[in-house]
Amino acid sequence: MIRPAELIERKRNGEELAADEIAELILGYARGEIPDYQLAAFCMAVYFRGLNAAETYALTDAMIRSGRTLDLGAALGRKVVDKHSTGGVGDKTTIAVGPIVAACGVPVGKMSGRGLGHTGGTLDKLESIPGFSVDLSVDAFIEQVRDVGLAIIGQTADLVPADKQLYGLRDVTATVDILPLIASSIMSKKIAGGADAIVLDVKVGDGAFMKTIEDARVLAEAMLELGRYAGREVVCLLTDMDQPLGAAVGNALEIVEARATVCGEGPPDFTELVLDACARLLALSDLGIDAAEGRRRAESAVADGAALAVYERWIRAQGGDPDPGVLPRAPVIRELLAPVAGHVARLGAIDVGHAALHLGAGRAAKADEIDHSVGIVCRAKRGDVVAEGDVLAEIHARTENEAKLGAGEVLAAYVIGDVPAPERSILLDVIA
Ligand code: URA
Repeated sequence: MIRPAELIERKRNGEELAADEIAELILGYARGEIPDYQLAAFCMAVYFRGLNAAETYALTDAMIRSGRTLDLGAALGRKVVDKHSTGGVGDKTTIAVGPIVAACGVPVGKMSGRGLGHTGGTLDKLESIPGFSVDLSVDAFIEQVRDVGLAIIGQTADLVPADKQLYGLRDVTATVDILPLIASSIMSKKIAGGADAIVLDVKVGDGAFMKTIEDARVLAEAMLELGRYAGREVVCLLTDMDQPLGAAVGNALEIVEARATVCGEGPPDFTELVLDACARLLALSDLGIDAAEGRRRAESAVADGAALAVYERWIRAQGGDPDPGVLPRAPVIRELLAPVAGHVARLGAIDVGHAALHLGAGRAAKADEIDHSVGIVCRAKRGDVVAEGDVLAEIHARTENEAKLGAGEVLAAYVIGDVPAPERSILLDVIA
């Protein structure tokens, strides 16, 4: 039997731990035999000393072994593709990508998470649709993927339970933004969920965990390496999170925008990311096509209404009403006007994320209730030219006072200057 204190001390001193030592630590923690405080100390030692590739794989493998695994591919008789984002502000990509990819004939069965802090979660966004249920049994989930081509549910309690426990602990011990811990947290869930091929959207910028492209590249490489160990194909997209993705930030507002994008009426940056992710997922699928053909098929599923038809069938299959008119609306909607004319040089993602959180769109603590109706629609984005008095953003709030406070926070997120902002595309790099 290992002594956790000894492993913590050895990691603190910069030693490499053996795979079975890491496995005992993680599995002992998942069984409730090792207390939170020892795992918290271990995570902090990892923050300072890191984990090498073998240790990161041992951690991922132990996390997977802490619960059950799914073989969606065997159940469907198809190669299964999946996507995951490392989290950002206004990131509703899955909700638009799912119906488009399914409309192209590739089944999508996805387990998603809730938001915490300034990053929103796909499940919270979906739950803003009246009647929509994210709690399906595994059998019902598989059945729906077979029938409709698409199902998105909450991660079941028995899939990677060690990550659930560990993530909650990391969140309150300043140990979330540690590269090998993020890589193993994400990849353990993707591998246990049964994906054969995975597109990872690694966000880069002030609204993301990875603030620099260099850190994002290291995270992407670590996840590619874990995929290689586990025999899965992985493609990493490094994408901009220095400003919010698309225009909408807030749960119901993001559903409206995701649906509009499925109909071909989404904002340009979000549409570009969605179509690119679809193209790469289709290229990894069993259709036997390349990314250029995947892009063509994704565009045509949007243009001919096939993607919208799948979107509506999917929402109905999970008990929801796909009509955007039934989504909750905030009682107060206020426009934020540009105080001066100029070029939008910056729109800080984290500031907009915090403003949405303070309006009630997110949770500061796990048990907090969220208000699905509130949020922000950023009408002007980096690179736009605005005249004095133009609408910069809409603030959707519960009260006049909250709208006023929100407007102040969003205004502080904008920098309006005299010179055009340098162009920065949504897709910064692709690592495969
Ligand atoms: N997303 C995850 O699933 N895990 C992390 O550790 C960070 C982002």
